[in-house]
Formats: sequence, structure tokens, C-alpha cells
Amino acid sequence: MSQNITIARFAGIPVKLHWSIILLLCFVLGSIFRSSQSLNQSLFFLAYFLLLFLCVLLHEFGHALVAKNYGIKTRDIILSPIGGLARLEYIPKIPMQEFYIAIGGPLVNVVLLILVSICLFIGNISFALDMEYIFLNPSLNGVLQFLFWMNLTLFAFNLIPAFPMDGGRILRSLLSMRWGFDKATRWATAVGKILALIIFVYAILTQQYILTIITVFVFITANQEYQNLRTKKLLEGTLAHEIVLSNWTKIYQDDLVSKPLAISAKQAEQSFLVFNQNDVLVGSLPSIFLAQAKKEKLDNHQVAQIASSKGHTLDGETNLSDLFTFMNEQGLAIVGITNASHQIVGTIDRITFGKYVKEHTKFSWFHL
Ligand SMILES: [Zn+2]
Repeated sequence: MSQNITIARFAGIPVKLHWSIILLLCFVLGSIFRSSQSLNQSLFFLAYFLLLFLCVLLHEFGHALVAKNYGIKTRDIILSPIGGLARLEYIPKIPMQEFYIAIGGPLVNVVLLILVSICLFIGNISFALDMEYIFLNPSLNGVLQFLFWMNLTLFAFNLIPAFPMDGGRILRSLLSMRWGFDKATRWATAVGKILALIIFVYAILTQQYILTIITVFVFITANQEYQNLRTKKLLEGTLAHEIVLSNWTKIYQDDLVSKPLAISAKQAEQSFLVFNQNDVLVGSLPSIFLAQAKKEKLDNHQVAQIASSKGHTLDGETNLSDLFTFMNEQGLAIVGITNASHQIVGTIDRITFGKYVKEHTKFSWFHL
């Protein structure tokens, strides 16, 4: 079941609510219903809540519309209790584009701030906000004061230079112009993590528990951003022949299933390439097919009866990123790797691949 419910569509972009925000809304409505507040107070309370999410939504549309300007589609905008998220199809590698997309959101808050300020100014209303007062004595003035401070907070909060906040992306795009994408990501995520640590300590000391949770979330997201980059670099920088399993076994269509079963029980090979009598590659035997055959006790059946007809090879000079994409697109568990004279010199299966990536991108909390 999807965790998000589509509630509207603007400029072709679906706006979705995370289920937890619906729970929060029910909670807000419930507490209004049970409280001793007047109807007027309750309605204003609900209005503050909805205004907050309207501003977050407009902020996200700021990102989405700038992205649209560069031809980048926004898959959807998700509103959750911890904020909004405009999910773009991809993040542009051109620093200026990332910069403008990232700043598009906070600029919406600036525009709202200016509009609200003009209203406050014309109405000769104080800018000072007393939350308790505006909730107990609802008025249009209070709504304007609330809007002013909320947009100021959204603006300032999002400019904190830590992923996934906009400030983190702005910092990365600025550093990218000088250092390139990779080094910029490394440093921008490091700055984000250090800031998250500092704010975490402050939040603990001042007993602000929601802020504590947010900093943990920020730290993990910043770290993830860098981990993703490391994995991507590894895959692009490694060639298939470097991780090929050269000690491999040819399995023939008329072999009994017991043969690959016996090999997989004691060797690294878990999936196999399948050949016909003329030594032509005709399919493969993925490890999950083999596991199923073992379960059904098909040891004495011929391999041809359980094999997949998908048998593919790739050149040893293919990088792992392309290899992974190819395996996913074709739905392959294993590929044969060929040398310059198109002879199969070994195999790469999903297990070998996964092990290699895991070993070479060992998780760490800090790396510069
Ligand atoms: Zn934003």
C-alpha cells in the first residue's frame, strides 16, 4: 500500500500527503473538538495549521517550478509532519542549475515575507509574535504575525547548510563551481554533519527533543548523500574484468540439476550460465531457481527444465555501473564476461557484485 495519498495536482505535479500527516490532522481536529476552546478559537487553530502547510507547499513549488524551467520534471510533492519534499526526477550536475533550484524554495518564503510585511506595515500592526495570545485571541492581525514568523523560520531553517536542507544543496552547488561535484559533495556533507552534531548537543542541553530528532535525521541524510556518491564512484571506476569470477563452471542443458546444486554447496558460484551441446550460451540458472529446485527435490531433472532462457555476456571493459543497469534492465542474475576475442572468461552474479560493493564502500560515520 502506498504511504502517500494524492490530494491535488497543480501544474501537472501531484501533491501527496504522507499518511502520518493525516493522523496528525485527525489528532489536531480531535484535540480541538475535546478542548474547551470556543468555535472561533478552534477554527483559527485549524487555520494556523493549514496555513503552515500551505506555506511549505508553496516553498516546494518554488523548487519544482525552477526545476521545470530547466526541463526537469517533479515526480511529486510530499507533505509530511517534518516538512515538504519535492521529488525531482534527477538533480542536475550543472552547479548553477542546482543552485537556482535549491534557492527557489526559500525565495518563495522571501516573497511571502515581503507581502505579509507590507500588510503588517499598512495595518500598523506590531511584528512581535505572542503565540499564546494569538491562539487565545484569534484575529486577522494574529494570522499575519503568525505568517510573518513562520515564513521567517522556514526561510532561516532551510538555509542551514546541511543536507537535506536547501542550504546543503546551495553550499554543494557553490563548492561545485570551484572543486567539481565529488569534492563539493564530500565537503558539503561534512559541514552538514558537523553542524548537525553541534545543534544536537545544543538541543540535548536545552532539552529540545524534537530538535534532537531532526538533527539525527539531518546527520543520517547527509551521510547517506555521501555514501551514495561513493558507491556511484566505485561502480563507475571499476571494470567488469576486475571482479570477474574466473574459476567458473559451464553447465549444460542436459546436465542433471544435482551438478550445479553440488557446486553451489561448496563453491562461490551460486548462479550459472547454461550452454547447449555445441557450447553455445543459451540461458542461465539463477540461484533462486536453483534454491527452488532444491526445495522441490528436482535433483534428477535436467537443467533445461528449470533454467531461464536469458543468457547474456558483456565485455570485460564494461564498468560496473553499466553492468548493473544492464542486469537490472534484462532481469539477469548472472552475466558472462568476455575478453577482447569474445571468449567467456568468467561470470559476475548478483552475489559477487553485492559483496564487492559492500566491501569497498564500508559504512563509516565520517570520512574526509
Ligand atoms: Zn526547500
